[in-house]
Amino acid sequence: MDCVFGIDVGGTNIKLAVIDREGQILDHRKIATRANEGPDAVISRLANELTSFIQADQGWRIRAVGLAVAGAVDARAGVVMVSPNLTGWRNVPLAERLSEMTGYQVVVENDANMAAFGEGWLGVGRTFQSFLVMTLGTGIGGGLILDGWVWSGPFGCAGEIGHITVDPEGWLCNCGNTGCLETIASATGVVRMASELLAQGGSPVLENLINENGDRLTAEIIATAAFKGDALANQVFQRVGRVLGLTAVNLYNLLGLEMIAFSGGMAGAFDLFIGPMREEIKRRSHILPPENLKLLKGILGDDAGTLGAARIAWSHIELGERLGSRVN
Ligand SMILES: [Zn+2]
Repeated sequence: MDCVFGIDVGGTNIKLAVIDREGQILDHRKIATRANEGPDAVISRLANELTSFIQADQGWRIRAVGLAVAGAVDARAGVVMVSPNLTGWRNVPLAERLSEMTGYQVVVENDANMAAFGEGWLGVGRTFQSFLVMTLGTGIGGGLILDGWVWSGPFGCAGEIGHITVDPEGWLCNCGNTGCLETIASATGVVRMASELLAQGGSPVLENLINENGDRLTAEIIATAAFKGDALANQVFQRVGRVLGLTAVNLYNLLGLEMIAFSGGMAGAFDLFIGPMREEIKRRSHILPPENLKLLKGILGDDAGTLGAARIAWSHIELGERLGSRVN
């Protein structure tokens, strides 16, 4: 049977899956990235893993390999330019190296783009042509699909939605800018906001939850407190909703997107931020009807990246060229 490898390379784990043309996951494995060992060791280990996968032959005929990598990727050249989670990865010709070691055609793309591509193939984006998938976790990633195609831009790393400025006087971001969306609407931002508010005054529900959690404040606990009606925790998610709405409405006005979907750990707080987010969109959208922009939750979860990587491998096979990344 014709299959591809869909691979998601993260800072902690590498997820590998054998995926058929319809998107069925036939088998999957997870290995530790051990990013501290550097790119050569990681690529060798990955190549060995692919070989051993094939030795467990199930009648698969692997046609290509699609890789989703956290970081800035030059998809045309198959090069990982830089990755915040992979130590020492700078201008690594990943597609070429892995192809030499395994003999497969290899396609490399950014992981957030591939999560969006996966959702477009089999998930929440199936019925849409132009949409954004925002991954809300420790940071914020974004994958943009325009008119059915992944938009990576000429420099290979477009869709960095987390680093749109939403507060010019805001906190310093890891990227060097101040007031990025990520400084407020990520798990890190939520914890920081709640800590500042806690320093100003009490919040019994939240304080109890922190005690029960061994004195640790996490985004999950703040969400739990907000669901229980805690005022301080709700104030945090009001702000999150507001800046997400601000970002969304600017994108909507610029691109006329049909839909924005949310995935990642913080998507669990969807019901907490979606109200204020909708209000903000309504307040600022006067040319395009605000109700035309759908706000949804992603449905593929952790599989979005491997499925997207598989879909891009399939589309390269189908189009028989290096760049041809049609989603549906
Ligand atoms: Zn930033």
